[in-house]
Amino acid sequence: MKSPFFSRRHFIHQLGTAAFMAPTLSTFALQSCQSKSGESKAEEASSETTKTGSARKLGIALVGLGQYSEGELAPALEKTENCRLAGIVTGTPEKAETWKKKYNIPDKNVYDYKTFDQIADNPDIDIVYVVLPNSLHAEYTIRAAKAGKHVICEKPMAMNAEECQQMIDACKKANRQLSIGYRLHFEPHNQEMMRLGQKETFGKVNRIIAHNGQVQDAKNLWRLGKGIGGGGPLRDVGVYCLQGAIYTKGQLPIAVSAKLHPVTDPEKFSNVEEGIDFTLYFADDTTAECRASFNDKYNQLRAEAANGWFELAPAYGYSGLEGKTSKGKMDIENVPQQARQMDAFANCILTNTPTTVPGEMGMRDVQLIEAVFKAARTGQKVPTPNLVQILDKSAIPG
Ligand code: NAD
Repeated sequence: MKSPFFSRRHFIHQLGTAAFMAPTLSTFALQSCQSKSGESKAEEASSETTKTGSARKLGIALVGLGQYSEGELAPALEKTENCRLAGIVTGTPEKAETWKKKYNIPDKNVYDYKTFDQIADNPDIDIVYVVLPNSLHAEYTIRAAKAGKHVICEKPMAMNAEECQQMIDACKKANRQLSIGYRLHFEPHNQEMMRLGQKETFGKVNRIIAHNGQVQDAKNLWRLGKGIGGGGPLRDVGVYCLQGAIYTKGQLPIAVSAKLHPVTDPEKFSNVEEGIDFTLYFADDTTAECRASFNDKYNQLRAEAANGWFELAPAYGYSGLEGKTSKGKMDIENVPQQARQMDAFANCILTNTPTTVPGEMGMRDVQLIEAVFKAARTGQKVPTPNLVQILDKSAIPG
């Protein structure tokens, strides 16, 4: 689908250069930080910055208190510098009680899915973080934007490109920033892959291998496409392969091909694919061989270049990432990824600068997911000429 906003002609988006979005920085500042009352949040923030010498911590409300919120995001918010856990949205009253006590959240900052829209009247909440099953991302992002909040939406951004466009439009209309939960853009091993690949430190990258698989628990119903969901390995773990290939190569693919894995467990995989192999083709004949599975374990991002190679294995986890190159081991520390990701977004809001992982990038990846499914369905190579033209070039500034 061709986006009216983001044709190749209009939007070769290289985020490292920050030449971003139609408005100038000052217009963007006003647009992204104007509160419902008309008061500028940028002004509020900067006046506090002047008074205290440190930026005001922005309040984040987590929507959906499942595994990722509980196990990763809430603990990460205790390590952030620019933001804090200010509110929760849950349909389970017992969870609300536990979280209120554990994180000292006042009653007035606790919502359920029916009362969620009242968050518009709550000045404690600057950012809504949507951590729901994939098929609910669009609805809650749009409702959050209508409530006047900045939004982080988990990956995959939505179920199709049309939904993505609606989410982007809703945030633009509300003059709020939209970011996708792409934590690895803030992770130093992956940033090193971007740097080595995009700078062509080992010469031109001509082959990428990106494999990500995990054995999915039969109880994880939505991920297996049962009930509310939008799961499956391509959308869930395959998106990291797409991302890794693109940010390592620093280009967008021009076509994709794909083949589903045979189904070995028909009971578990009646609604979603068990696994999928897909290839991204780049204009300079580079290929990225990708694999995503819910029935096997792998975790690798490797680039083979004219004069050497570099790789991460594991590449996509929350910690314990390790990197090697043909010249030796990468000496890079693991960091709290989610804390960095949320701090970076809060900083974008406080400083009125664009995020390196905006909704447009989420939409690009959803367009690719759609193309990969089409290629698997038809057995044909599917050209991808109309992708949103966006790349993260922040690892090679200037
Ligand atoms: P989960 O199933 O553990 O949590 C989902 C939450 O949504 C649950 O608390 C559930 O009660 C709630 N929910 C609200 N309405 C629901 C409905 N109608 N049906 C089902 N659940 C409903 O899932 P999770 O692992 O926390 O994943 C949530 C999102 O976060 C997904 O989009 C996933 O892709 C993403 N995620 C991202 C990362 C990452 O590294 N960026 C890691 C894990 C998950």
